[in-house]
Amino acid sequence: MMAVIETLETIAAVRAWRASGGWRTVGLVPTMGYLHEGHLALVAEARATCEKVVASIFVNPAQFDREEDLAAYPVDLEQDKRLLAKAGCDALFLPTPATMYPEGFDTWVEPGAVAAEQEGRHRPGHFRGVATVVLKLLNIVQPSHAFFGQKDAQQLAVIRAFVRDLDVATAIVPVATQREADGLARSSRNVRLSPAERQAATVLYRGLRAAEDAFRSGEGRAAALAHAVHAVLDAEPRAQTEYVSVADPDTLRELDTVETRALVSLAVWIGKTRLIDNLILDASEQARDGA
Ligand code: AMP
Repeated sequence: MMAVIETLETIAAVRAWRASGGWRTVGLVPTMGYLHEGHLALVAEARATCEKVVASIFVNPAQFDREEDLAAYPVDLEQDKRLLAKAGCDALFLPTPATMYPEGFDTWVEPGAVAAEQEGRHRPGHFRGVATVVLKLLNIVQPSHAFFGQKDAQQLAVIRAFVRDLDVATAIVPVATQREADGLARSSRNVRLSPAERQAATVLYRGLRAAEDAFRSGEGRAAALAHAVHAVLDAEPRAQTEYVSVADPDTLRELDTVETRALVSLAVWIGKTRLIDNLILDASEQARDGA
């Protein structure tokens, strides 16, 4: 028989579920639904780490900076429930916007410098919406661990910063970016791409790999690394580059030179779809690779 996932729709139901077991470890996997292998890798990591795993699906209006992106966000709840059950997820928190933002809601988490550049610069208010909803989810579920994808590297850094600054007792666990065979990072937004756009979208990862190749060849100047990425992106006529960044992976401060580690991140429009991706350059890994 197909497993059916326990669905919790109210905060009271989550609290009752959480109090019903004497679990030492509970893993939370926050998502916006339309689940794919990337989300399922987070669930698998949570499954391997924690006694109980709860996922949440909430398309958070507060983190969308463009109406049309929110309106077009894909939904397939029945498929999501099947995938979560199959992945061994124990419960699903499925709140409505009114549950998360009831009448009179008026308090926000405002991230600092870590949210100022890259995505933060191009998506005003985005990380305030993310930080607020994630803190709410952590307070509602009170998980011992919460799992986030490296795919959204700045989001991960923003969450780590507020967890540290606001003394949240949850361990934040990063999970590597899951990719299609041709390198495209899995994303719920990929379904919006036409076949020709889907083909063109491989340019993001190819661009990142160009920076990695340059770094491995000894290039440490951030401008030169970014230039290598731009050269690849510029060769794809369907791609409109929004930014390419070479920054400190923890503070997201833009770098002049890469000493040890750097986060190379980018946002690119393919037609009407905005895609992001990133990769970490790590001189110590390079040393190991070369050993
Ligand atoms: P989303 O539903 O897009 O908000 O993503 C929910 C979580 O899944 C976030 O922590 C994302 O970083 C993570 N995620 C999304 N896509 C991927 C991917 N391709 N690989 C790994 N994690 C991902």
